[in-house]
Order: sequence, then C-alpha cells, then structure tokens
Amino acid sequence: MARYFRVSKSSILTFFRCGVQWFFEYLTNLPRRTDYPRLGGGEIHQHIQLIHRTPKQPRPFYFRTLKAALGSWSHRWDRALEREKDRIILPNAEAAEKMRLHGYKCIANYWKANYQKIAPLAIEKRFKYLLPDMQNILLYGIFDQLRTPSLEFIKKNRPEIFINGQLSPEYDPVLIVDLNSEYVGKGFYKDDSLEEKIRGQFKMNVSLEPVIYTYLYNQTMGKRPVGFVYYYLSNNNYIFVRCDDQDYQMMLYIIKIFIEGVRSESFTKAAGSHCRYCDYLEACSERSNLYYSEPTDFSLVSDEQIIQSFSSPVIQPQARQLKFKFKVPRSPKKLPKLRPKSSKIILPDPLPWRN
Ligand code: SF4
Repeated sequence: MARYFRVSKSSILTFFRCGVQWFFEYLTNLPRRTDYPRLGGGEIHQHIQLIHRTPKQPRPFYFRTLKAALGSWSHRWDRALEREKDRIILPNAEAAEKMRLHGYKCIANYWKANYQKIAPLAIEKRFKYLLPDMQNILLYGIFDQLRTPSLEFIKKNRPEIFINGQLSPEYDPVLIVDLNSEYVGKGFYKDDSLEEKIRGQFKMNVSLEPVIYTYLYNQTMGKRPVGFVYYYLSNNNYIFVRCDDQDYQMMLYIIKIFIEGVRSESFTKAAGSHCRYCDYLEACSERSNLYYSEPTDFSLVSDEQIIQSFSSPVIQPQARQLKFKFKVPRSPKKLPKLRPKSSKIILPDPLPWRN
C-alpha cells in the first residue's frame, strides 16, 4: 500500500514559524505539552460537539437548558485540568479559572446564537485529498462545522456567484465554519479607520486555513463552498473570507516549498514570542542547563551581572541512532521513535543540523 506524507495547515504553519519546532513535533516522539488556551480551546470544541449530540427527547440541543450545558462545561474543565496537570506549561490556578470563565462565556454565546438555528450539516468532519503532481502528498484538514447559509447571506457576501438570480452550479450553498475560542473584545476594529480595519483583518484573508479548507472541499466534493467563516465565540461575531484560484496557486506553491524544506532537512531555529509556550523549549536548548539573566539597568553594567542557571531534563544519548533521512516522502510513523522512559528528554542523535 502506498505511503503518504500527510500535510495539514498546522504542520505547514509550524514549519514556517520554526523549523526546529516542526522537527521535534513531527519527526520525534518527544513528550508533548499544552497550555490553558490550547487545552481550553480543544475542550470548548468538544463541548460544542456534545451540545449537538442527538438527545433522547426531541429538542434542539443535547442539554435541556443552558444552565445544564454550563454546569457540564465546568465539570469537563475540572477533568481536563486533572488529566493534563503534569503537561501544562506555566501552571497557574488563576489562569486556569480565567479559562473556566472564558469557557462559560463561549458556551453561553454559542447557545444563544444557535438554539433556534438549523443544526450544522457536519461537525468535526475530516477532509483529505491526494495532491496532483506531488508524489504521495496527502493534504488533510478537520472542519469544525459545515453549515448552510441563507440565500440572503450568500447574496450579500458573494453577489458575483449568482447567474440570473440563481446560485452558480459551480457552488454548493455551504459555509466552512471555524470555531475560534480566542479572547476577543466586543467590537471588531470598532473605532478604527478603514485602512486600519483592512490592515487589521488582512492576516485572516490571506491565512492558509481558509484557503486549504475551501480547496479541500472543492476537490473532494466537486463544487466550491460559498466561503469560510471565522466564528469568534467570545463575542459571537463572525468574519467572512472568500478564496479563489489565485489563493490556491499560492497555497500549492507554499506546500511545495514546505515539502522541499522537509526533504532537504532545512530546519531553521526561529526564536520568537512563540518560544514561551513551545513544547520543546528544553530540547531546543540541547543543553542540560537553562539560563536566566536578570534585566538590569544598563548604567550598572559591570562584570558582576548575575546569571542564574537551572537544570534542564535534556540528556544526550550515548549511542548513535538512525539518521533522519528524508529523500522520499514517507510517513512520520515509520521514522525511528524516541520513547523516553523517565521525564528526561532524550535528543535524537545526530540532530539533522549537526551533520
Ligand atoms: S523554543 Fe523557540 S526556537 Fe526552540 S523549537 Fe521552540 S519555537 Fe523553535
């Protein structure tokens, strides 16, 4: 059976954010971590999925009342905190409680906005597509929801896809919905100038997620979806994004660059604000010590600055292991696995950038 190299938007985004992070995440078996926004986001998604589970009695949602849905969310969050207590980066009781409250808000908003609405066509639906002209590259994505928008919605947002008052046969009356649990204020760009609004929203319009997802839908279903919606649960606002063939060409180009980077083992260490919550910070240092230098008034610069050193769980293996060669696309599952038995982090040997 043919082996595929699986490509998702998360994988591509991680690679271009920091190649070393991608290497640790996809080519090793180093322990994963989590943080409150990631954990909370996943749990909120699962809770919304549960809200749509078919109840025994006929009613719109699985829970009888909003109060029951919120109570159940709180229990879910307690269970998640207990289950993940050893994996949380920077544990903090106050941040954990803040996420519980944020979850209440997201669930309550979702309930109020969707109770009377037609249920989604699909929830957490997986789409995959074998990319043409790329050897065994399988593009995949999991759509949070597929929904049927009203004709008014489509006419307002995509008037150009109507022919003689009818939706073009190229299109399905379907929206791909991304449930976003980020903290967002009440009004989007409310007091901004038009230029500020355009610049503020630009990243959403060119983001890979809507492009990959609308492309996946088009290729697997044979029709284009009307568009993609970022649904911000914390303020019940949405932002609509449309994609076209020009976006798909750029996406395929980005995927080619990504594949070439992986094959040639171009793992660039790109430190930035994302390091703070990186699962592989200790492994990335490759040292058994981590350092901290206290910010100090520059006028006091002297030979006496205190640098503190903290021991890190990283250990270098004694025995050499197989090199991660990537001449042909192959499944990461088939690569050598590193299974640390203790909390120690055993680095691959040699690391690709040490050859
Ligand atoms: S700590 Fe920063 S530089 Fe190191 S792998 Fe993680 S994101 Fe990359």
